[in-house]
Amino acid sequence: MDYEKVIPGIIKKTDSKILLIVLDGVGGLPHSETGKTELETASTPFLDEMASKSSCGLTIPVLNGITPGSGPGHIALFGYDPIETQIGRGVLECLGIGATVGKDDIAIRGNFATITPDRIVTDRRAGRISTEENQEIVSLLSEKIKEIKGVKVSIYTVKEHRCAIVLKGSGLAPYVSENDPQKEGQPLKPIKALDRSSDKTAEVLSEIEKKVMEILMPVDTKAKGLLFRGISKLPDIKTFSEKYKLNAACIATYPMYKGIAKVVGMDVIDGLETIESEINALKGIYNQYDFFFLHIKKTDSYGEDGNFEAKVKTIEEADRCLSVIKNMKFGAIAITGDHSTPALLKSHSWHPLPLLINSPYAIQDDAKRLTERECAKGILGRIYSKEIMYLLLAYSLKLDKFGA
Ligand code: ZN
Repeated sequence: MDYEKVIPGIIKKTDSKILLIVLDGVGGLPHSETGKTELETASTPFLDEMASKSSCGLTIPVLNGITPGSGPGHIALFGYDPIETQIGRGVLECLGIGATVGKDDIAIRGNFATITPDRIVTDRRAGRISTEENQEIVSLLSEKIKEIKGVKVSIYTVKEHRCAIVLKGSGLAPYVSENDPQKEGQPLKPIKALDRSSDKTAEVLSEIEKKVMEILMPVDTKAKGLLFRGISKLPDIKTFSEKYKLNAACIATYPMYKGIAKVVGMDVIDGLETIESEINALKGIYNQYDFFFLHIKKTDSYGEDGNFEAKVKTIEEADRCLSVIKNMKFGAIAITGDHSTPALLKSHSWHPLPLLINSPYAIQDDAKRLTERECAKGILGRIYSKEIMYLLLAYSLKLDKFGA
């Protein structure tokens, strides 16, 4: 991105604080009866007041028409190009369950599968075993497979037939072929290094594959082996302190968002469960940091469930809880989402979402609410999510003039 050429020369550390509030999946679509979106339906006195006093606009998470996962959605909000900076599926899976992934580690998504002794995959999901059965198998495997060729192996239950694996050791690279034949009735594919740097990873994974089969063959379960997918490493990126000179904190309830925040070098506040506890955490750590990422998850979950009313209620709850930030001082505040999750679609979508930026230096515009249609009237226009961080730095007066 061009910003990388400009920012290092003009960024400065100041006392002003930045708050980025992400209402996950907040963007929606009109209800068939009322013609109003979730945000338009919700009663949101605080967000309305903020929007009236802010510059507003719409954000495009990745590219027009592209529906992002929460991973790319957040990477963009943190000011990284979501296409250049992709977080591998294995890494996301491991971060999602709260596993620690170090910068030299290999992270993998695992599927328990039914495999015959002569390596034919007969069920790629092992009959979708229960999560409890998965936990029993994982604890058996964890006891028997701790280290291979000096590489520490950690296996975690995700749910049903899914698990996650972290390899910790030196000389590991993620470029190896997967053993999943993709079709049932086919043999396991050999795990091969696709470059020299990945030789050791391929050896370790082949050994794990073999050991898992040996251990599980005599056990009364449909899970007889492991398919490895999404074999990946953390992206090599600059942290918030390197990139923006910011001392950043993450206030979130779900492991995946905490994990992504850790990838960009934020300190993660643990033990939070409700929006209220998140706001209390924000108050508690206010003096220690100059950047706060506050993530609210439930808006997305209800969108995914197709539960329009519950999504509206969550927006209203967030509005009530967030209102205390009126009494706190920030150089700049952004409130937006990482992508839309319209209840109508029961899934993420490509639609642009509302954004407000509040700062003493923001021009108030015609957008009076944080909604899709109101923010379309805003002065910020339509911007890419990856630009928001740079606006926040500017509005909080952390950027010097570029050039003489
Ligand atoms: Zn999301």
